[in-house]
Amino acid sequence: MAGSPNVVFVLGPPGSGKGTQCANIVKTFDFVHLSAGDLLRAERSTPGSEYGDLIEGHIRNGTIVPVEITCSLIEKAMKESGKNRFLIDGFPRNRDNLDGWQKQMGDKVKEVYVLLLSCTEEVATERCLKRGQAGSGRSDDNLESLKKRFQTYQKDTMPIIKYYEAKDMVRSIDANCNDKDAIFSEICKLFDEWKS
Ligand code: UDP
Ligand code: MG
Repeated sequence: MAGSPNVVFVLGPPGSGKGTQCANIVKTFDFVHLSAGDLLRAERSTPGSEYGDLIEGHIRNGTIVPVEITCSLIEKAMKESGKNRFLIDGFPRNRDNLDGWQKQMGDKVKEVYVLLLSCTEEVATERCLKRGQAGSGRSDDNLESLKKRFQTYQKDTMPIIKYYEAKDMVRSIDANCNDKDAIFSEICKLFDEWKS
């Protein structure tokens, strides 16, 4: 990889708008959006993938896929993009993710900060259920999976956010309101330094 790619991690509970806002960011700023969840869903659906069943089991159960799989998919996508600024959405989600990332990528990238989209479980659950009813086709946009996804977020992802907070690397945005444009305006203030 040429140079040292810049990485912004985008975290927040399921339904906090990570995918939506990352799509907005890449329209205005020169970033490549890599969603760990999307990369895993694509790998799961690749015919002949040796990890398909394992990934689907974790997704339905709201648990976290072993980092070797996720990190390799991210690194491959980074290389294939040929670019050097990345929004990595929905990762790292637990200690295993963080350790594996640091081991595999620590020397290869510059971590800029964590963009944290914070919102309540109530707001986020409603959004995911709506997304499921609107035909998201996601096997985890149902109440049972959602409860588990939130448990995982609280138990496994919050300590990762705390880890980055202690390094003063978290930029937090209130993502509770349903006005996506208003939230994006707040994000733009943070990303101003990347304006070309
Ligand atoms: N997932 C994972 N590792 C990752 C990202 C996602 O194991 O680094 C799995 C996990 O089971 C998670 C699911 O993929 O619950 C969906 O993740 P995604 O980020 O798409 O969901 P979101 O949080 O955006 O609703
Ligand atoms: Mg997402």
